[in-house]
Amino acid sequence: MTDLLARSLAAVWHPCTQMKQHESTPLIAIARGDGPWLYDTNGRRYLDAVSSWWVNLFGHCHPHINRRLREQLEKLEHVMLAGFTHEPVVTLSEKLSALTSGVLGHAFYASDGASATEIALKMSLHYWRNLGRADKNRFVCLEGSYHGETVGALAVTDIALFRDAYAPLVRVADTVPSPDWRRAADGEDAVDVARRAANALEAWLETHHAQTAALIVEPLVQCATGMAMYDAEYLRLARALCDRYEVHLIADEIAVGCGRTGNFFACEQAGIWPDFLCLSKGISGGYLPLSLVLSREAIYQAFYADETSRGFLHSHSYTGNPLACTAALATLELFEQDQVIAANRELAGWLAEAAQPLAAHHNVRHMRQTGTILAFDVDTVAPDFSRRFAQAAIGQGLLLRPIGATIYWMPPYIVDRATLALLGEGTLAALNASL
Ligand SMILES: *Cc1c(COP(=O)(O)O)cnc(C)c1O
Repeated sequence: MTDLLARSLAAVWHPCTQMKQHESTPLIAIARGDGPWLYDTNGRRYLDAVSSWWVNLFGHCHPHINRRLREQLEKLEHVMLAGFTHEPVVTLSEKLSALTSGVLGHAFYASDGASATEIALKMSLHYWRNLGRADKNRFVCLEGSYHGETVGALAVTDIALFRDAYAPLVRVADTVPSPDWRRAADGEDAVDVARRAANALEAWLETHHAQTAALIVEPLVQCATGMAMYDAEYLRLARALCDRYEVHLIADEIAVGCGRTGNFFACEQAGIWPDFLCLSKGISGGYLPLSLVLSREAIYQAFYADETSRGFLHSHSYTGNPLACTAALATLELFEQDQVIAANRELAGWLAEAAQPLAAHHNVRHMRQTGTILAFDVDTVAPDFSRRFAQAAIGQGLLLRPIGATIYWMPPYIVDRATLALLGEGTLAALNASL
């Protein structure tokens, strides 16, 4: 066991990690998972309260997803998707189209979220080029936005820690104010903040629309910047402005899609559809790397021509991998069988209930919730708070990973009320131990 940790530190370069910090913070070697629980190699269990970086929707080792994957494994593990097709990718694309009532009827596949972002950016720019409007090649995103960390995706990721070191590589997009309701002035509510941010977007578009291909947003919750939540009114206004100024709207639902906010797609809460919708993370139930971009008929038609160069020539080796698509199909089957969207409303209520003792805590600010994402900010001057809190949470048997001084819960949908009560108590204890 100790041996495994030492071997990992010697041979594995871990993500989003200053490796030297593992001199004082031990790695945890996970041996198996079961439902919302992860078990380490000593048999200790941890509640996966962040769904393993927001990907795991139905718990670990779900019997239905496991069975579907085993069946697919006996038939076809992979085939290239250029010139070939297969049942899982076709059925998945049809189901996703149906979930958008056919509005976003064309699915393009990749393996990770950042690639989905880049595909949407490239498709938008190439669309305008195919229409003879090559000047429309700039992008605009929200302050604090996160759309992935590859060089292309960093262009629309407004988080200094992830971007600054690579600035010479990145063609940075412009930013417009976030509708984050924590920015409310006295007497303002979330809708007022959304309208104020939309006014700023309008002023920006008025000046820059002729050079702008698309606005990219994380609908309802800007997760990676610290669970900044905003009113759906912003999405309605942004949709109308994008239409008026002939700018595409890209909805990055990589984190907020797949039922997380209370509807299957977060955009449904605003009653709008984007021109491009990116999915990844939860779509495969947290099993296999899969991402995709859904787009409209008009976009697709702008690429449909005799000339090869007008086509969208982007590809990845594992595009549309049959196992990953099968994991996604099994995940969508669980949504249908278990009435997950309705059940998640009850789950959201349990989350709020479990957070009540925290809401009353002297150091807790801005308690907030959208669907099954619950977050709050901690008023603390403790140095290195997030790492110390995460350590204290591990001591409580909880996998929690604050973003700066923001603590959040984003559990798998199968977690029960009693387990959430444990989560509430453990979070409170960890908070008091790390202030
Ligand atoms: C996680 C995330 C991404 C990037 O996905 P990766 O698979 O980590 O590349 C992009 N956008 C949003 C909103 C995300 O939360």
